[in-house]
Amino acid sequence: MTRLLLIGPPGAGKGTQASRLAEAFAVPAVSTGDIFRFNVKNETALGLEVKAFIDAGAYVPDSLTNAIVKDRLGEADAAAGFLLDGYPRTTDQVAELERLLESAGTKLDAVVLITADTDEVVARLLKRAEEQGRADDTADVIRHRMDVYAEQTAPLIDVYTSRGLVVTIDGLGAVDAVTDRILEALAERGLHATVTI
Ligand code: AMP
Repeated sequence: MTRLLLIGPPGAGKGTQASRLAEAFAVPAVSTGDIFRFNVKNETALGLEVKAFIDAGAYVPDSLTNAIVKDRLGEADAAAGFLLDGYPRTTDQVAELERLLESAGTKLDAVVLITADTDEVVARLLKRAEEQGRADDTADVIRHRMDVYAEQTAPLIDVYTSRGLVVTIDGLGAVDAVTDRILEALAERGLHATVTI
C-alpha cells in the first residue's frame, strides 16, 4: 500500500519515472496530464473544456482537475495505493487531496521531487516536441509552463517538506540511473518496491 506523489518542473522526466515507479510498487500511475490529453484527443466534453488551457500552457481550473482525480482515485485499483504524477499542482489541489485521503482514512507515504536545471529541461521538451508533437511543447508555451510551475507549484514543496514527506532526486542522467536513485531513497524511508524492474 504505497501512496506517492511526483513533483517537478515540466521536462524533469516525471512521466517516464512515474510509469517505472508504478510498476515497481505495483500501483496505478495516475497522471492528470495523460487523462486530459486522452480526453482532448477523443474530443469528449471534458476534452473540449480543457484544450485551450493545455495548449496555452496554463493550468486547468482546480474544480475540473479535482473532480477527475476524485473519480480516478475512487476506482477499485487505486484503493491499495497509487502514484500521482502532476497532481496536486496548486494549494487548492493539495487541500482537495487531503480531504480525499482523510475520508479514505489514508495518508501519503512520500513526495518525490525530481529536480533538473532549466536549460536541460527546455532542451528535453523541445526534443519531445519533435518526437511527439505535443501542442504545448513550443518554446513560448514551455517558458509559460515553467513560470506557472514556479509560481503555483514550487511553493507546494515547502508544504510537503514541513510535513517531512519530500525526497529530492536529481533528475539528470540516464532514465535507469534516476529510477535507481528514487528507489534507493524510498527504500531508505522504509518504502520498498515489490516488483524488480
Ligand atoms: P503534464 O503532462 O503533467 O505536463 O500536464 C500537461 C498539461 O495538463 C499542463 O500544462 C496543464 O495544462 C494540464 N494539467 C495537468 N495536470 C494538472 C493539474 N494538476 N492542474 C492543472 N492543470 C493540469
